[in-house]
Amino acid sequence: MNTRAGKTLRFIAVVLMLLLIGFGCYKLIMLFLPDNVNPFQPLRIADKPTFVTKTKINRLKSHPDECFAVLENSTLTFEKIEDQKTGENCAYKNVAMLQQSGISYGGDIVLKCPALVALAIWERHDLQPLAIKLFNQKIIRVRHYGTYACRNINNARQGRRSQHAYANAIDIAGFVLADGREISVLKDWGKDSEKGTFLTAIHQSACKRFSTVLGPNYNDLHKNHFHFDQGAWSICR
Ligand SMILES: [Zn+2]
Repeated sequence: MNTRAGKTLRFIAVVLMLLLIGFGCYKLIMLFLPDNVNPFQPLRIADKPTFVTKTKINRLKSHPDECFAVLENSTLTFEKIEDQKTGENCAYKNVAMLQQSGISYGGDIVLKCPALVALAIWERHDLQPLAIKLFNQKIIRVRHYGTYACRNINNARQGRRSQHAYANAIDIAGFVLADGREISVLKDWGKDSEKGTFLTAIHQSACKRFSTVLGPNYNDLHKNHFHFDQGAWSICR
């Protein structure tokens, strides 16, 4: 069968075989892979993060319904905020207000859904386990400089809008341990101490949850806080 029809038939047979193998692989993955390493299973905040977690978080950026389903299926309490223009080139789109997570933020946190999911995963799987490991106690309070602000990058008069202009970023200044001790980015970053070790480790772990993570090593404007955002750029500094 060296005719054109023969070639077409062979092509169809190969495509069918590949589809069958693909379907078989998919079935095997669904049957045997645990949910937290299975790229086809929805993300769950409670699941221990793995190498596929960041890919799953990134996928939520273009699938808002899936993102809000992740929040619904978690222990967080939150309120969805209606999409709205909030200023010149500033807006809320797929934004939620966090009412309760495992830690107090001293007020409502307004964040775009994928940023809130990343924050919740970081809080639960990075921040608290490390606090317990290093200090033998939990963090009870996160000190921050806010999430939403209709402004440009670095507060510059001109230039691009910051991710804060879309409620897609949070600036974290420090933490309070259960015994009242304070851990401060300004005072403890870079120090050869338990607090310094803690800050370095959670900065690194934030890079696995957020797209952009900036700290005191980035520039002087960040000497007193970590900036985490879920924008388009992948930066860890
Ligand atoms: Zn910031």
